[in-house]
Amino acid sequence: MKILVINAGSSSLKYQLFDMDDNSVIAKGLAERIGMESGKLTHKYGENTKQEYVVETQFKDHTSAIQLVLEALVDKDHGVIADVSEIGAVGHRVLHGGDKFTASCIIDDACKQAIKDCIPLGPLHNPANLMGIEACEAVMAGTPQVAVFDTAFHQTMPPKAFMYGVPMKYYKEHAVRRYGFHGTSHRFVSGRAIEVLKAHGQKADKIIVCHLGNGSSLSAVVDGKCVDTSMGLTPLEGVLMGTRSGNVDPAVVEFIANKEGISVTDTLNMLNKKSGLLGISGVSSDMRDVNTAANEGNADARLALDMWAYGIRKYIGSYAAAMGGLDAIIFTAGIGENDAAGRANVLKGLEFLGVEVDEEANKVRGKEAMISKPGSKVVSWVIPTNEELAIAMDTLELTASK
Ligand code: ADP
Repeated sequence: MKILVINAGSSSLKYQLFDMDDNSVIAKGLAERIGMESGKLTHKYGENTKQEYVVETQFKDHTSAIQLVLEALVDKDHGVIADVSEIGAVGHRVLHGGDKFTASCIIDDACKQAIKDCIPLGPLHNPANLMGIEACEAVMAGTPQVAVFDTAFHQTMPPKAFMYGVPMKYYKEHAVRRYGFHGTSHRFVSGRAIEVLKAHGQKADKIIVCHLGNGSSLSAVVDGKCVDTSMGLTPLEGVLMGTRSGNVDPAVVEFIANKEGISVTDTLNMLNKKSGLLGISGVSSDMRDVNTAANEGNADARLALDMWAYGIRKYIGSYAAAMGGLDAIIFTAGIGENDAAGRANVLKGLEFLGVEVDEEANKVRGKEAMISKPGSKVVSWVIPTNEELAIAMDTLELTASK
């Protein structure tokens, strides 16, 4: 069966078409500048999706973007399937499922209403995700669709982990609490980690997944279930990220707003978009650029790297305490999978927990590998994430019997 995975943003739409016989990606691409004067579709196909076909055109809305994606998929020159009917189901990434969704679900009216009800919690993403869903309904009527939520995996957190210490009425009236994000990645990676650890005769009861990319979050996973995670009501909370500050004293918001004469919204925008690695280094939000600058002697870039690693290390320590022990630390996403120095920097100082990094093994990039010494009490692994495949697998599971 072929499954189309869609990640719809407000003005863009990413897609991947999977052949679930061997979980391979047979085409993928991006429709950009939807709703603007000039749009662009970049469609990749062929062996290892290396060939590229670009169309410059106007997309009136998400429906016209999906329409063009489907045309590209069946095109006689650049297509990969003979007919749209070969697509057995569509899986959609949806940012916020609030506390309504603990797992992925088949999209029906009730599901769409629940996604709408979560718009106050995901004001930028959920409406865009819905546009993607409705666009597919319009052009692929009858093809089952599935919603996969970024928040769902974290719904097993106990109240002591997800509540904020603010008056109860804000939780009861406005659902203010920690939700956590990157859940599809944390679920996929922790699931794979448990399989791999067990296959190597290693304990996998208490693990920490470090999803370190542009956006970063950690989760504490006990017996396969999330018990805590670092992102909160929004993805701003937690560790230092590419452009997000992560944790700050909330009073910083009012203080900076007053000093600079800017609004709370502008201040939060600064914390989301101009802070983190970018804000501290002044160089870039991209870890590779910050690494280069630090290696060239840029002190602010070095500080950004130190803050990044120190913050993650503190979370690892606190989650080890929260779980009452630790069996494994798992690294994933762009930085976690590729940045050996970054990983070593995070793990440095955790020897007291029984973490022993193997320098040679830690050179690995983008591949599943153990990076701790054999016999290390707490093992460390790199496990590549694949959120799109996880969405496709859920979609297959929920629709295969239909
Ligand atoms: P997103 O959150 O956008 O999905 P990714 O998971 O793709 O992000 O991660 C992007 C980050 O990974 C960037 O900061 C990038 O610099 C970093 N990265 C990718 N390759 C390397 C590398 N070889 N060394 C260090 N950082 C890397």
